[in-house]
Amino acid sequence: MLVCRDVTELVTDFVEGRMSFWDRARFQFHIGMCRHCREYLRQTRKTAALLGEAPPEPPSPEVEAELLRRFKDWESS
Ligand SMILES: [Zn+2]
Repeated sequence: MLVCRDVTELVTDFVEGRMSFWDRARFQFHIGMCRHCREYLRQTRKTAALLGEAPPEPPSPEVEAELLRRFKDWESS
């Protein structure tokens, strides 16, 4: 499991789309549960947008839900 400190280190890679599938899944899993890191991600995206580094298109809600479902299956197996 990621902790908040991991998220602060990984957030730039996440925003710039430089993460592997499972790293993204773990990151999003934490973001889904942690209000503090959600806010941190939002701020980072805003900053990246202001700097002209448009973040990659986020996955659709359907893709994200599927991803989280698979991740939970993977965690419990
Ligand atoms: Zn957190």
